[in-house]
Amino acid sequence: MIAGNPLLDSKTSPAVQCAAGNGAYDNTRQALEAINLAAVRGRRVLLKPNAGRLASAGAGITTDPQVVAAAIDVLREHGAEVTVGESPIVGVDVLEAFEMTGIAAVASQRNCPCLDMDRRPYVEVPVPEGRAIHSLKVCSDVLECDLLVSMPVMKMHMHTGVSLSVKNMKGCLWRRSKVQFHMLPPIKGSEQKPIDIAIADMASVLRPHLAIVDGTVGMEGLGPSAGQAKPLDAVVVSSDPFAADAVACHLMGADAGRIPHLYLGAQRGYGVIDLDALEVCPGHWRSFVSAFAHPPANLTIEFPNITVWDDRSCSACQSTLLLFLARYQDRLFDYFPSQSRLHIAIGKADQKLPQGTLCIGNCTAQRRGDGPFVPGCPPVASQIFGVISQEQSADVTDADRIEGGGQ
Ligand code: SF4
Repeated sequence: MIAGNPLLDSKTSPAVQCAAGNGAYDNTRQALEAINLAAVRGRRVLLKPNAGRLASAGAGITTDPQVVAAAIDVLREHGAEVTVGESPIVGVDVLEAFEMTGIAAVASQRNCPCLDMDRRPYVEVPVPEGRAIHSLKVCSDVLECDLLVSMPVMKMHMHTGVSLSVKNMKGCLWRRSKVQFHMLPPIKGSEQKPIDIAIADMASVLRPHLAIVDGTVGMEGLGPSAGQAKPLDAVVVSSDPFAADAVACHLMGADAGRIPHLYLGAQRGYGVIDLDALEVCPGHWRSFVSAFAHPPANLTIEFPNITVWDDRSCSACQSTLLLFLARYQDRLFDYFPSQSRLHIAIGKADQKLPQGTLCIGNCTAQRRGDGPFVPGCPPVASQIFGVISQEQSADVTDADRIEGGGQ
């Protein structure tokens, strides 16, 4: 991977191109053609879409295949050698995911390789500026390309506020190593969550040369996979991924200055998120704004008959619980008919729990009383339902799987 960014026009006032209203392919082509792509000639370019989950195009979960198609076409027209690659969340076969998302079809029509980046051994990459992480297991394909392109979906995210091009780089981490981001201990003296600091740390060594943010259909609410699809029909492109994410945040009705991994990275000089400093085109780009519903700040408001006893859990178990509640809340009280309030525990605390508390994850093993216990580190949502319904659910879809790729 080339150190530095030959596509970056300005470190202090980078350009950001937006296109909206013309469909995924044309929006992407239009935004890309407004960028100076001369530096891609003769380079090996790796496109890293969000294809880490089993989901169909249009669900707001994976990158629209027509965005990928346009990126392949435009970059090749400028002389690049293009490959598409992904390392999916735990439990997903990426080649299956490429098929389901429609990316395999558009790539195959263009004779463009789609790589399972987990198939080869990782390379350990030190993170000298890291505060939460000090090395990363990175897929070899990422390090062997010349230029890396992040192609996330515009999403709200239950743990990190948003998931855009900076966070999408988590899908360059090898296999299950990406789950470690959700299991980091608190960092002494820091107000930010370890996962946010870890993403900023990751941006010190895994920063894409180009960001193409797909807002064709985004996800609002409980992203990255349990929220609602949100059509926007917009694409944002920049050679500064922080700048692209800042503009995408604004289009979603969010403020990059309040997204910890973005402001931490910007403070360290990895990119620019100050909208006033950016050269955003077209001039009327703010007319594309369509506010996304934010993730719920308080689970008790979102799930009023449920009390969550959470002490020092990591975000892997939190993700599992949120996915479980989002998917199964309507059926839950069928299995707890005598209770008007359901108590659920995750994490490591040793306080006494109410009788019948549903204990989720290995950390609760010592605390469990007479309620159901779901083992796993973390378990998956369908497993919890299987335990409480005393039968293994056959209904295992991607939404059950833990937030391991985090994209
Ligand atoms: S059981 Fe859950 S909270 Fe405990 S370490 Fe595993 S993922 Fe984290």
